[in-house]
Amino acid sequence: MPVKILHYRDRCIGCNACVEIAPQTWRISRKDGKAVLLGSVVKKNVHMVDIHEEDLEANIRACEACPVKVIRLP
Ligand code: SF4
Repeated sequence: MPVKILHYRDRCIGCNACVEIAPQTWRISRKDGKAVLLGSVVKKNVHMVDIHEEDLEANIRACEACPVKVIRLP
């Protein structure tokens, strides 16, 4: 079952924690230094994508590690 992950990118500080923990889902943008949620679409400034179950555990850890709490999972 896919799981929707949300990124409130405006408030991302580009600390790289999510990229280190879940590189299959995150990159740092060369343009603005913030994290990019790979394959995501943007709605009302919130980036979102369905991730696969095998990537869930790493993303839960990324969510917990995010210092500004801008990654949300259900
Ligand atoms: S862990 Fe949070 S603040 Fe750090 S780059 Fe990822 S989304 Fe941005």
